[in-house]
This record gives sequence, structure tokens and C-alpha cells, in this order.
Amino acid sequence: MNPSDTAIQAFQRRFSEQPRYLARAPGRVNLLGEHVDYNDGFVMPIAIDRATYIAFSPAGADHTTLVAVDFNETAQFTAETLPDRKQPDGSPLPEWALYPAGMAWALDGAGLSTPAMQAAFASDIPRGSGLSSSASIEMAFGVAWSSLGNWSLPPMQLARLGQKAENHYVGVNCGIMDQFACACGEEGRLLLLDCRSLEYRSLPLPSDTLIVVADTSVRRKLSSGGYNERRAACEQAVRRLARDLPGIQALRDVSVESFNRLSRHLPVLVKKRARHVVEEIERTRQAIPLLEQGKTHEFGHLMNACHTSLRDNYGVSTPELDTMVEIAQSLPGCLGARLTGAGFGGCTVNLVAREQAEAFARSLGPEYEWRTGLHPEIYICQASQGAGLL
Ligand code: ADP
Ligand code: MG
Repeated sequence: MNPSDTAIQAFQRRFSEQPRYLARAPGRVNLLGEHVDYNDGFVMPIAIDRATYIAFSPAGADHTTLVAVDFNETAQFTAETLPDRKQPDGSPLPEWALYPAGMAWALDGAGLSTPAMQAAFASDIPRGSGLSSSASIEMAFGVAWSSLGNWSLPPMQLARLGQKAENHYVGVNCGIMDQFACACGEEGRLLLLDCRSLEYRSLPLPSDTLIVVADTSVRRKLSSGGYNERRAACEQAVRRLARDLPGIQALRDVSVESFNRLSRHLPVLVKKRARHVVEEIERTRQAIPLLEQGKTHEFGHLMNACHTSLRDNYGVSTPELDTMVEIAQSLPGCLGARLTGAGFGGCTVNLVAREQAEAFARSLGPEYEWRTGLHPEIYICQASQGAGLL
């Protein structure tokens, strides 16, 4: 059964009536621009056609009651218990409920009304594989409260409140890309976000391609150390390069040409890390006219180059991710393949000719399993609409 029917039926069972509304918010995958968000660069995600659905109605009481159908669990909160992450009986909110409750908390903080609701929600976005199941819950609840509270916000504002919820209420240090893509997605189009100005627009994604996401089934190892180290290397590079390029704020401000001229002053490892960022930002710049002109193969080459650089310069790939990419790049119809997300495990993203996507997905999984002994998940996706009421 699809997750929207699952949510509606669970609502009927739990509350013995029909839900008044249905909200939907998709997951996302990033096609190009990796590890550049914290360097003021550009990211190029799409919202995917897997989503969280919430069936909901106003509660008529002061309790919000949430049913997480996929976990078969219920949680409650009121305006009074919300700031303490507690339920009315004093018990802590379960982890999954922190995402919707955090959204209510962030909306309240922005002076937006969040009337009590009763809701059941379900999703077909895999959890914790880097397709942003968490942001989709936040954005779907953002949409739900906007309809009950009778207010509206530009999607980017809703995204920023979702990020605030995840950073400060759930306690996960994510950037803006997840909530942004989930809120602002457009059918058949890729999004281009400037992580410095937060300006964005969409670009055409060739209609004769599909996106295939391949989950290596290796969970991202707790790599906050590795992540922080890379951030520190980028900051160190900016400080050193600023001696020759006064006024630069971030690696975004360093051209490939200046970098090649001045990078000999950097320690070897810092130089490799910074090279990835400077060249990746250049790749996203090159990608814009390619997409506008429908030059799909050339865009795919940039994805391949991104993977090589994440592997050799940024050092965030793993043998499993490399294997998945290597197999993909050898299959017919594959235009580009690379690891997506922070790395150290998780998923790859592949741009594949539409008519070959089925065969591609059928070959990729078994070949990976044969080589690694691991069982992967393969998802064929299309670029879909962002969060909204159905
Ligand atoms: P992702 O990469 O999928 O966003 P996160 O670790 O950021 O991974 O978020 C996953 C968390 O979001 C889960 O542990 C759970 O708390 C919550 N979540 C995701 N999907 C669901 C769902 N269908 N029902 C309830 N909670 C969910
Ligand atoms: Mg997440």
C-alpha cells in the first residue's frame, strides 16, 4: 500500500473519523555540489518521488496527538510540554516525535500559530540513508500547521525553520540543503541553491533521464571527526590563501586559476581538501549552462569527476561506494555516477538514460552484491514537487 493510503487508514482507525487534510513532503538527493555548502558554494539537489504523508485534522483539545504508522507508536504534546520535549504524562517524547514537535517549537518561536492537531503519518523514504526522511517530516508538518493555523510562508522560510528545529530541538547539526530541497522541489527540475545568499532557482533536468539512488547498505560510520577535520582544513586554507587574496571569506571566493597559482603555500593534505572544494564549485558553475542547453552527457561527466575528487582529494569515499560507482559507470545508459551526501557510507546517485534505467537497476544491485557480499537497495527516482497540501 502507498504511504498516503497507509496514513489515511491509520488515522481512521485511531481517531474513528475521516482526516480533514493530507500533507505531503518529499525526500531529496544531491546531484552535484558536495561538501561545498559550508564553503559558501552551490548545491544541486532534486526532491524525489518518495515522500512522507500526514493525514490530519484540528484536535478540538489542547493535545496534539501523533501516530507514527511506520513505528506503530503514538506520542502527544501540548504547548506547555513542548519546550521540555515531554509528553503530558511527563515521559520524554520518543526520538521520532522530536521532528514534528521541533517543527511546532520553531514555528511557535517565529510567532506562527500551531493549533493542536491529531495526525497519522507514514513515509516511503528509507530512514537514515541520506535521502532526508527527517527533513520531509519537518516540512510536511510545517505545511500541516500552516493550513490549521491559517498562515503561509515562502517555502525557503519554512525550510529555515525546519533547519532550526533540527539544529536546536532535535540536536542534529545539518545545513539548509535538506529542508530547502524538500520545501522547494519542482517536478522534472533540478534546484540550484547559492549557499551564501540562499538565492535559488531551478534548472531543467533532461526528460529522457531518471535518477537511480543506490544504497550501499553500509551505514555512515560515525564520522563527525572526519567531517570536522575537513571543515577545519577548508578554514585553514582560507586563512592561508587570504594572505595573497585579501578579502576572501570562503573557498567560494577562490578561482581555480588563483588556487593553482597559490596553493603551493598550503600543507599537502589541506591543499587536497581545498582543491576538491574549489574545483567542485567550478563544476557546479559549469553545470548550469550544460543543463540549460540539455547537454546531459557533459553534466554526467561532471558527476563522475565529482566522485573521483571526493575519493582522491576529499577522502570521504569508502571501498563499497567506489565499487558501486565503478559498476554503475560500466553499465549501459549510465551518464554519471558518484557518492552523494557526506560520504563514509550511504548512497550513490546515478543519472541514467530513462529507457535503460530498469535494466541498469536490475544489473547494479546483483553485481554489487556479488562483489561485496552486501545487499544494496536500489531506488529509481524522478524529480518531484516540494512539500504541499494535497
Ligand atoms: P535521513 O538521512 O533519512 O534524514 P536522519 O537520521 O536525519 O536520516 O533521520 C532519520 C530519523 O527521522 C529516524 O531515526 C526517525 O526518528 C525519523 N523518521 C524518519 N522516517 C520516519 C517515519 N517514517 N516515521 C517516523 N519517524 C521517522
Ligand atoms: Mg536527516
